[in-house]
Amino acid sequence: MPNHMHNRVRRRNADWDVAVIGAGAAGIAAGLQLREAGLRVRIFEAGNRIGGRAWTESKSLGVPFDRGCAWFHCADRNPLRLLADTHGVHYSGNPTLAYHVDDHLLSEDEARDLRAAVGADVEAIRRAGLAGVDRSAREYLMAGAYHAAVRDYLISAINGVAPEAYATAEAAADDDTGQDWIVREGIGHLLQQLARPLSITTGCAVTAVDASGPGVQLTTGGGRLRAACVLITVSTGVLATGAIRFRPSVPEWKASAIAAVPMGVAEKVGIRFQGDPFPVPPDTYLVVQPGPDTPAFGLHLCPAGHPIAVGYAGGPLAHWLADATMGEVEAFALDHLAAAFGNAIRTRAVRATRTNWRHDPLTLGSYSAARPNGGHAQRHALAQPLWDRVYYAGEATHVCDFATAHGAWLSGQRAASQVIEGLTNATAAR
Ligand SMILES: Cc1cc2nc3c(=O)[nH]c(=O)nc-3n(C[C@H](O)[C@H](O)[C@H](O)COP(=O)(O)OP(=O)(O)OC[C@H]3O[C@@H](n4cnc5c(N)ncnc54)[C@H](O)[C@@H]3O)c2cc1C
Repeated sequence: MPNHMHNRVRRRNADWDVAVIGAGAAGIAAGLQLREAGLRVRIFEAGNRIGGRAWTESKSLGVPFDRGCAWFHCADRNPLRLLADTHGVHYSGNPTLAYHVDDHLLSEDEARDLRAAVGADVEAIRRAGLAGVDRSAREYLMAGAYHAAVRDYLISAINGVAPEAYATAEAAADDDTGQDWIVREGIGHLLQQLARPLSITTGCAVTAVDASGPGVQLTTGGGRLRAACVLITVSTGVLATGAIRFRPSVPEWKASAIAAVPMGVAEKVGIRFQGDPFPVPPDTYLVVQPGPDTPAFGLHLCPAGHPIAVGYAGGPLAHWLADATMGEVEAFALDHLAAAFGNAIRTRAVRATRTNWRHDPLTLGSYSAARPNGGHAQRHALAQPLWDRVYYAGEATHVCDFATAHGAWLSGQRAASQVIEGLTNATAAR
């Protein structure tokens, strides 16, 4: 729609046409599209930085470290990857995958067999979902298989929940293309660049949305304001706490949808080394299974050539990573590296950091994981607007790219289109 048409949909008695809650990928994508359409948009962000779960920082390890999203998943069709090209942001292709099981690095043949066994299990979960069954993935996995520890580690690390809590319907819907490319400068850095044209107020939490009168009235840390409509992009973890109060109350179907799609937990530990100490090519993702009594753990070695190792955990192991002491977490990661490369690796470690999304009050988890037995279908309801003026976006609202940065981005664009249509219809009806 051309800009001048939007002059007609602007609301004279509102401070803003659209208030957006949250400056993560969804809020930024929506803000850009709404601004492009000529609407007056203001984004309110409770945190003191832009990007939400896209957060690149160099302070902890001395090189860019993405504490949240780091990979362009579905890189061959990822809209953020295309934007990276026009913003001077670089990325590499799929990492080399390697496995160290018991006492040795698997040969190419052994690694191929392991990958095939894990792949067959994942395919069985997906097929169940495609057949219309929405059950726990655990029901489709053989216990005691030789690849079980590595398989369960990977399912948990990718989805943020153990196989018990991973739904077959989620596996069937997940539109993954198998292209995972690491971003050298960081996805958080890219989003900072993309957000530049936007009007964003950081350090300003929205605590209440009142839609009982015309438009909406928002209560924020900086006072009250009116907007024609509001777009909410906060995580389902935050929505479930009631940190944002609604008037009228949200209907039961929306509350049920939020409860059906809770947050999974995925955490990382990053370790800086003196030079590159690993006898494998940079950008290798190594899964280490030291023995039957130690959990498998995967580390991305020298991502984008940086002299760091980034360990990934999901589900119960991630809960432990978030709750253990920093010393315990660092020792856990170094024990796995030492099992693969020998004890000398420990002397090359310089410093370490770990994430804690589980306890971050602005996310209360890492990314959404719909519950088995009907949760996935509720993602549609999560995306539905209320009262023609309260709209929803965020990774959890995307039906096939959930739990990703590009899914959040696309959801923001979808919601922006809904907002534009809603405001246009309301104007036409007057
Ligand atoms: C450890 C980890 C690893 C990940 N790895 C990848 C990956 O490699 N690739 C990938 O594609 N995805 C990955 N993801 C997922 C991806 O980061 C998220 O799906 C995506 O960034 C979510 O964006 P969003 O806009 O939906 O939500 P958010 O980024 O959470 O944005 C919502 C914003 O709302 C703000 N907010 C909360 N409450 C309020 C309030 N009351 N008022 C105002 N503001 C508020 C929050 O501070 C936040 O900034 C990862 C996530 C984590 C945590």
